[in-house]
Amino acid sequence: MLELKNIQTNYGNIEALRNISLHIDTGEIITLIGGNGAGKSSTLMTISGIVPSRAGKILFKGKEIQRRSADDIVSMGICQVPEGRHIFPDLSVQENLDMGAFLRKDKAGIKADLDYVYSLFPILAERRTQSGGTLSGGEQQMLAMSRALMARPELLLLDEPSMGLAPLIIKQIFEIIKKINQEHNTTIFLVEQNANQALHIADRGYVIENGKITLTDTAKKLLTNEEVQKAYLGI
Ligand code: ATP
Repeated sequence: MLELKNIQTNYGNIEALRNISLHIDTGEIITLIGGNGAGKSSTLMTISGIVPSRAGKILFKGKEIQRRSADDIVSMGICQVPEGRHIFPDLSVQENLDMGAFLRKDKAGIKADLDYVYSLFPILAERRTQSGGTLSGGEQQMLAMSRALMARPELLLLDEPSMGLAPLIIKQIFEIIKKINQEHNTTIFLVEQNANQALHIADRGYVIENGKITLTDTAKKLLTNEEVQKAYLGI
């Protein structure tokens, strides 16, 4: 579904991504794990067209997308849930969800997806008229994920969904990520510092250090890899 070939991304003189190559197959959950400043968010923002790549290719379903605009990339089927959620604080829950479907015209499909996200997160249905900014951190994460689902993406990019949340909420969010993947036919690229949780729901994983992919394997094997255990799992 998605392939990055030798992607390089710079911020001025800072080389954030150095020859990143990876692939994601249809139906997979792939995780990208790494420490602070390793290049995880830059990878997602380069795929989304928010930050331009300096060199390399990004293929989505066989088509080059590295020079396309961010809104074009959304309409092709890739949607990102940014780190820190970035919901619209003054809009209600319902209005935030409507914004997610902004590029769509299929009314029946939009209604079905709205019912789906409210069934995934019943708390959001209860808070339908409440403004987004008054929701708890966990509820805002649920809203940000739901807003992205309202665009009906084939590939959902999640940037550190567990950040700043209590362990019980993190568990719930990860269970729902798995559910979205299985029930809603959504391929998922999950960027996480919480390597333990991420590797427990992922099929495969990549490790990024200092802008480079240093390791890739099945999630199962990464969980038992000594280097990964030492650096990211606190074992
Ligand atoms: P974290 O987990 O802390 O969010 P990350 O793995 O997502 O980190 P990135 O945010 O992709 O890492 O950052 C990769 C590198 O690029 C870092 O050295 C960072 O300081 C730098 N960087 C990121 N955004 C910018 C920017 N807008 N301007 C300049 N440098 C940036």
